[in-house]
Amino acid sequence: MATAEPKAVFDVESVRRQFPALAQEVYGKPFVYLDSAASAQKPNAVIEAEMQCYREYYSNVHRGVHYMSQKATEAYEEARDKVSSFIGSGCKREVIFVRGTTEGINLIASTFGRQRVGAGDEVLITAMEHHSNIVPWQMLCEQQGAKLVVAPMNQRGELIFEEYERRLTERTKIVAFVHVSNALGTINPAAEMIAAAQERGIPTVVDGAQAAPHLGIDVAALGCDFYTLSGHKMFGPTGIGALYGKLEHLIAMPPYQGGGEMILTVSFDKTEYAEPPAKFEAGTPNIAGAIGFGAAVDFLRGLDLEAVAAYEADLLAYGTAALQAVPGLELIGTAQHKAAVLSFLIDGVHAHDVGTILDHEGIAVRAGHHCAQPVMDFYGVAATARASLALYNTRQDIDRLIAGIGQIREVFG
Ligand code: PLP
Repeated sequence: MATAEPKAVFDVESVRRQFPALAQEVYGKPFVYLDSAASAQKPNAVIEAEMQCYREYYSNVHRGVHYMSQKATEAYEEARDKVSSFIGSGCKREVIFVRGTTEGINLIASTFGRQRVGAGDEVLITAMEHHSNIVPWQMLCEQQGAKLVVAPMNQRGELIFEEYERRLTERTKIVAFVHVSNALGTINPAAEMIAAAQERGIPTVVDGAQAAPHLGIDVAALGCDFYTLSGHKMFGPTGIGALYGKLEHLIAMPPYQGGGEMILTVSFDKTEYAEPPAKFEAGTPNIAGAIGFGAAVDFLRGLDLEAVAAYEADLLAYGTAALQAVPGLELIGTAQHKAAVLSFLIDGVHAHDVGTILDHEGIAVRAGHHCAQPVMDFYGVAATARASLALYNTRQDIDRLIAGIGQIREVFG
């Protein structure tokens, strides 16, 4: 089971101390959190930033002339700066605050998508998408009389690149794909996929919900047209995320929602819209959430992300080897390039029973279809159990998982 120790030094204990939720007990046992792909725990800095906003300078943004409003606006816009530089966007106007990846993709589909996709056109996705990168495109295709095309994957859960390329045709008007699969952990070759689409003049949308907590993101180097993030998966608050879009697109796109904040002038005859990003942020935004998101970005930037990646790779290898050694256990998703996710089946035991028994051992895993039913269909299963890792997990957490699986064997034989 032993694998080589990680090369770069990463002090996981000092990181763990920053996450108060991890220090608790569940059913009298030390809590093991292996569900970060669903939502990550929060460090003190994020909790404090959000509380401080409410305690000390809460006010609505962009509208007040008063001190508190200006202070809140400054902090909100500073958070936008932080997200923008974290993902390598050259310009903060390219970052729109949204509720999360789901809203980001819906925004693109119902604005850019409606402009670009017409009857007989195609939108290309992959076989390993989360529902939030399937359903908005399906809705768009239904509305526009277009077709949703799916690039297949192999049994390991890797995109079949030639098949992907074959589906990039003159009918393809948008390509949308997941950077890191939440159900399988597969890391897609995003740069190559974007380059192949770009050669044919096709814009790309990348679902970065699972990538941002694990990989360094550089949207400029990737060259994608759009990239989506969920704050809560990046150790930030829920209800806040970001959509990156190339400025030229954001300028040309119609607004998503109408209301306050997204306008220059309004009369009963006509409304003139604001410039991006305000054009896409109608209504009072999640002010404290955005500020907390900025704190999460600070937290991540305060770490040596290369050392984090090496640490997580070691943990994944350790977990993979440990699970593979369990008799009757099958790993679902064995891509060569993989991050943070260990989806598995135990012979003769339903995934929900796996989740319930592990829960009684104080171990939180996810059991279900992981909002990726087509992936489950591909493997011919209704559900898997999924242990997902983050930078605060340890080899001891994996050992507890393996011991918990031992309990399952005792119950089910
Ligand atoms: N895409 C992927 C790959 C995800 O894992 C998730 C959430 O699990 C989403 C999209 C949707 O993210 P959110 O629920 O934060 O909008």
